[in-house]
Amino acid sequence: MQVIQETLNLETVFEFRIAHGSRRAHRNTLVRLRHEGVEGLGEAAPSHYYGETFETVAFALSEWSPHLGDDPFALDAIEQRLDGVLQGHAAARAALDMALHDWIGKKLQTPVWKLFGLDPSRAPRSCVTLGMASPEEMERKLETVRDFPILKVKLGGPGDVENLRRIRAGFKGKLQVDANTAWNAADAVQVLRKIEPLQIELVEQPVPRGDLDGLRWVRERSPIPVFADESAHTLVDIGQLAGRVDGVNLKLMKTGGLREMHRMIHAARAHGMKVMLGSMVESSLALTAAAQLAPLVDYLDLDGHWLLRDDPYAGAPGERGEITLHDTAGLGVAPAGAGVR
Ligand code: MG
Repeated sequence: MQVIQETLNLETVFEFRIAHGSRRAHRNTLVRLRHEGVEGLGEAAPSHYYGETFETVAFALSEWSPHLGDDPFALDAIEQRLDGVLQGHAAARAALDMALHDWIGKKLQTPVWKLFGLDPSRAPRSCVTLGMASPEEMERKLETVRDFPILKVKLGGPGDVENLRRIRAGFKGKLQVDANTAWNAADAVQVLRKIEPLQIELVEQPVPRGDLDGLRWVRERSPIPVFADESAHTLVDIGQLAGRVDGVNLKLMKTGGLREMHRMIHAARAHGMKVMLGSMVESSLALTAAAQLAPLVDYLDLDGHWLLRDDPYAGAPGERGEITLHDTAGLGVAPAGAGVR
């Protein structure tokens, strides 16, 4: 198999600010995996917060590429070989995993969701995320999303409660909040009790990543269901989070691909947890890859294309959080403007 790496420069419309960072320009990596005249596509959206950069993605991809072998269908054997070469580097691994699935689907002329045996009509709607903002800035952003069915609001600043009250006053849809590790357990419970009357569907990652007991402490006192995001990366995390949270937010750039994500969804289910599929700042290529498993989950946060000035790809994400799994071979992604079907 031949692997070609290209740069995918993405820019968000607004500066995207959350509790642990802020950026506008994002340098992702496009992977073209070629074999027997078929090309599979993948995307890596490295997160500095998790120690990945454009450069570490390039390094990991060049370490792994010689070990892919000559059978893209042998996903299990490939996974084991790559683990033996280099561990971690989840975003880089996700790009390869996506490209392999896209290749297999194209080779078999079948959509990837169909290979997983799923019903595309069961995909829930995605939320759209509002980054942290000053009250005036928030007012302007809210104007653009007033008629969306689900909003996720980033919290972790001093004006949180007031901001959220203002949003609720002008927004009739479902509201979710995400603290991105900003609080300690006691502060988290205090804020969550204050915002409870605003009908908040769930809160993501109220406390630091490693504070698993803090998650449990908050969950036991929170009037709002608690989800882990920064604390949930791979399958082993699900076992540790069982009983400590109500749900988990899984992302390809943390799991390292669809295979681990699929295992995690079922493990979370076994522990009675709700599941959300989320995303980093990604194009519709990576978002559509995650959407292949959307029929298995309760919530989606696959809104990256809406945050972007120019999305280079078209696929599952549509208007106002709508997610459509097309009957197109592979991941069902096409260059923007080319049309998916
Ligand atoms: Mg989150």
